[in-house]
Amino acid sequence: MNVAFQESKGSPRALDAIAEALLLPSGIDGIYARTAAFEDVVNALIALISRDREPGAEVLRFPPVMSRRQLEKSGYLKSFPHFLGCVCCLNGDEAQIRGAVDRFEAGEDWTPGLSAADLVLSPAACYPVYPLAASRGDVPPEGLQFDVASDCFRREPSKHLDRLQSFRMREYVRIGTPAQIDDFRRRWITRAQEIAAQLGLAWRVDHASDPFFGRGGKLMQVSQVEEALKFELLIPVRSAEEPTACMSFNNHRDHFGITWNLRLASGGVAHTGCVAFGIDRLALALFATHGIELPHWPTAVRKALGI
Ligand code: 5GP
Ligand code: ZN
Repeated sequence: MNVAFQESKGSPRALDAIAEALLLPSGIDGIYARTAAFEDVVNALIALISRDREPGAEVLRFPPVMSRRQLEKSGYLKSFPHFLGCVCCLNGDEAQIRGAVDRFEAGEDWTPGLSAADLVLSPAACYPVYPLAASRGDVPPEGLQFDVASDCFRREPSKHLDRLQSFRMREYVRIGTPAQIDDFRRRWITRAQEIAAQLGLAWRVDHASDPFFGRGGKLMQVSQVEEALKFELLIPVRSAEEPTACMSFNNHRDHFGITWNLRLASGGVAHTGCVAFGIDRLALALFATHGIELPHWPTAVRKALGI
């Protein structure tokens, strides 16, 4: 699927104005304070996506951190070690912790006193759901659906406003037979384009691949595209030439099923898939397209968002 950008009423505006008005600097690239107007749009998007929740989907909201062991077992270190943020804390007895603080107060490096905790910063919202589903036993014949969300972290500092180190991800997750995953993904690729149209955005859906680590990663990217395992909905935010991935539609096949021993009641390993909404990027796409003054947005867009 590779179609030209659908028409939208607006045109991408300078992101500098958005940064000044809506996302305030923290001194660290890719980390911003979000203003009330930005959050109004974020909350409206979250509500819009919730209205499309399919019947039977179980709602779970995860914290911004997850079990390090679970992420290791999911294969994250093999695929994306360069993005991972691991929680580190000062351990030891009072004297050892005091020693680190003293080093800081003496103007020295205190961080050698840190050691890795059993937590990592979640790099995507759906990782914790597969072990949780597996712990409940076999997947029923109708499969499972989840509605999950979390703040996500990826160590990709960048000056580009559409590349954040910390961003909010909402996902619908499907667990079941290969045919159930296919149907789910097809349905969502269609529905996502209807949402983009409702929001007056320009978009294109295209094959995509994940930025796997290292030289070996290139081969994984090629086969991911060849096997059509990932599609993205791209919106011109920075430019039409380099549109920004604002949603992704992923088929993991039996990866998480094998990892977590997710079994179908009918026998065999369960397949999984997810549709991910980059909430901050969608909000940014709206401001880039319609401008920073909410009252000036097209009436139909404001109505769709209820703002
Ligand atoms: P994926 O797991 O497909 O890489 O990411 C899912 C969605 O999260 C993407 O389609 C995108 O909307 C959002 N996302 C991924 N990386 C970033 C990022 O660096 N910044 C922001 N704002 N959103 C991101
Ligand atoms: Zn996912």
